[in-house]
Amino acid sequence: MITLNHTPWHPSDWQSELKHAFRQPEALLEYLDIANVAANGIDLQPDFALLVPRGYAQRIEQGNIQDPLLRQVLSLQSENEQTPGFVMDPLQEGNAELGYGQTPGLLHKYQGRVLMITTPACAINCRYCFRRHFPYTDHKPKDQHLALEAIAKDTSIHEVILSGGDPLLMNDDGMAALIQDLDALAHVKRIRIHTRLPIVLPQRVTADLVATLEDARCKITMVIHSNHPNELDETTERALTCLRRAGITLLNQSVLLKGINSDAQTLINLSELLFDQGVLPYYLHMPDKVAGTAHFYLDDSEAQPIYEAMREQLPGYLLPRLVRELPGGIAKTPVNFEQRQPLNFQTNI
Ligand code: SF4
Repeated sequence: MITLNHTPWHPSDWQSELKHAFRQPEALLEYLDIANVAANGIDLQPDFALLVPRGYAQRIEQGNIQDPLLRQVLSLQSENEQTPGFVMDPLQEGNAELGYGQTPGLLHKYQGRVLMITTPACAINCRYCFRRHFPYTDHKPKDQHLALEAIAKDTSIHEVILSGGDPLLMNDDGMAALIQDLDALAHVKRIRIHTRLPIVLPQRVTADLVATLEDARCKITMVIHSNHPNELDETTERALTCLRRAGITLLNQSVLLKGINSDAQTLINLSELLFDQGVLPYYLHMPDKVAGTAHFYLDDSEAQPIYEAMREQLPGYLLPRLVRELPGGIAKTPVNFEQRQPLNFQTNI
């Protein structure tokens, strides 16, 4: 029987873990005992760098090039292929005419909510990422005061979504200062943190971070990002339990990815394991048509039987909503299989 330690980690634990993350494909493959780079189509010098924390690599099966966690992070030559319809910025987040990017570091896509780019960095580089080509240099963290000034002036904003990169890569002091600044704005009632760190680097959930979130005036929701049940183990359970005990609402979003989680049983197992660890499944995203990610893409006809099998077998509260994002959309759009096109109404995110 596993005896879980539900004490948060010390800050040096996650910083040390990140420092020693795999950054070279050769080193990761050697650790996993995988040879024959050429036959496996691996790109050893990818433009979008490889980055994998060691704790995440430990959850990958040794010698298995098809491991679903490895496939999320391993750079392949196929990423360099041009595929018609797959573009650098499929959601047009850099298009100021659609209302994005007018204040550096702030994406004002949604009614009553803004998304704040807090840091360009992540603890892991997911090959399918829809922001893998995002112009982070135009949205530098040093511009955070401009974003805060814009939020302070607009009293229609009730919720601030901290995004990135990954906002939890800010250190404990930086996160505490940002939460304090947002807490000081009376019209901001909720703070949502979109992060993959409790999954890929659970040591990031330190005692100071938990205390900051627990003491905030604003209600805090954390939307984590897990795509496969193999990503969840006793380290993620420990991190998530610390957050839940501090009163943080925990939701999960996943991306539907060909060859990784593109079968109903995997996604059913993920929903059940997430719930065991105190997290409600929230969204299952159709993949975006991002340049370099065509090998992960499923169309609606492939997604339909998977989602219908999930609906048949899961209770409603464990069924994530299947959605896609459309450029200029004011919210995520539910996928409607009957019409084989998006419904003309949208859910609130
Ligand atoms: S953690 Fe999120 S933002 Fe970072 S690479 Fe992965 S999907 Fe993209």
